[in-house]
Amino acid sequence: MFIDKVKIYVKAGSGGNGAIAFHREKFVAAGGPDGGDGGNGGSIVLRVDDNLSTLMDFRYKRKYTAPNGNDGGGNRCHGRNGENAIIKVPRGTVVRDAETNEIIKDMSEAEDFVLCKGGRGGWGNQHFATPTRQVPRFAKAGTPGEEHEVILELKLLADVGLVGFPNVGKSTLLSVTSNAHPKIANYHFTTLFPNLGVIYVDDGVSFVMADIPGIIEGAAEGVGLGHDFLRHIDRCRLLVHIVDVSGSEDRDPIDDFIKINEELKQYSEELASRPMIVAANKIDLLPPDSDNLERLRAYVMEQGYEFYEISAATTKGTRDLMKTIAGKLANLPPVIVYEPEYVKPLAEAGDANELTIEQHEDLWLVSGPWIMKLLNDINFGDYESRMYFDRQLRKSGLFDRLEEMGIQDGDTVSIYDFEFEYTK
Ligand code: GDP
Ligand code: MG
Repeated sequence: MFIDKVKIYVKAGSGGNGAIAFHREKFVAAGGPDGGDGGNGGSIVLRVDDNLSTLMDFRYKRKYTAPNGNDGGGNRCHGRNGENAIIKVPRGTVVRDAETNEIIKDMSEAEDFVLCKGGRGGWGNQHFATPTRQVPRFAKAGTPGEEHEVILELKLLADVGLVGFPNVGKSTLLSVTSNAHPKIANYHFTTLFPNLGVIYVDDGVSFVMADIPGIIEGAAEGVGLGHDFLRHIDRCRLLVHIVDVSGSEDRDPIDDFIKINEELKQYSEELASRPMIVAANKIDLLPPDSDNLERLRAYVMEQGYEFYEISAATTKGTRDLMKTIAGKLANLPPVIVYEPEYVKPLAEAGDANELTIEQHEDLWLVSGPWIMKLLNDINFGDYESRMYFDRQLRKSGLFDRLEEMGIQDGDTVSIYDFEFEYTK
């Protein structure tokens, strides 16, 4: 079964809580705080696997979670980190936000992608001991893991896409020129899923060609297999339009050519205007008195397309066509890789009243959902990002509240795993 679009829900693990514990040992009178930190939650990581060619694995499993981090323990015992959950996807999978449909990531290159970050483990009380604060009876909670509902959509990576009516010989052409073995038969919609073939033209010169299920006039209205498969040629650099000129199905080749172009346009104007060449197929079947070939040639060339004639069945002209294609590809831009559009919504300044502030002598523990989210979004290595953080904190009224509660210069403000010294 070929499945190329699915919606899944993913959730990273939450961080474990820090521990409150005190060292106990025989003959040691008052042990210090030794509560360990919680472990980090596992992240959801996407990885390209070239053994996969469909999204079939996602048909029955639509929910993926990564384990939580364990809580910290006594004796400075650090909670175990949750392991990352690795989700394998076929190359060319485009990940979109289910709500906005914006592209989050195009998995067409090799690097892993962290889709949801695991939560951070909370600090155990061992962190809060100072010469003046020897018995910290508090620790911090871990932060929750990110979650997301996303759409995975496979868009195959091919240089060349074959388009045309059903039964014109697209699969045959792919089979005689490449290593692919698509199903070939003399009836419509033999090809039910896209096939990719690698075509070796010369030493070091090769390209990938995609054969997709035939599109027909009216696909836009839901006749036949529809337009869905066209997504697999969305990235193609060159389209090869195959037209049956033999008249074997009692259709006019010029009509066919116009109708398929119309379908492409309905799907996407941009795809319809992609570089295209035309190959008239089944010339071995051409009746001697037919003017189909010449009429199509004249029409197509007048429209400004290059025109070739082949017989996929006898392989006449197919090798030359492949060489021509390779030559054209050398001068065309690379296969399309989609840029991310989705921007994670940033935490907007919440209200200071939503914040919980706990005072432990000269230490001020601040927590609350929006500040936790804010902190997760901030890249402390980046100046702009730090300034944003500062502005949001000021806007929230946190500092005013700390002042009212009597914070002093030099006190420590501790927000989850971020700490700073307070100065007015
Ligand atoms: P597709 O639907 O476009 O993929 O078409 P297929 O490759 O499955 O071919 C449909 C039928 O046309 C099959 O019976 C093929 O053997 C036949 N066919 C394809 N190309 C040629 C050709 O050049 N000459 C002849 N005589 N038959 C062909
Ligand atoms: Mg086919």
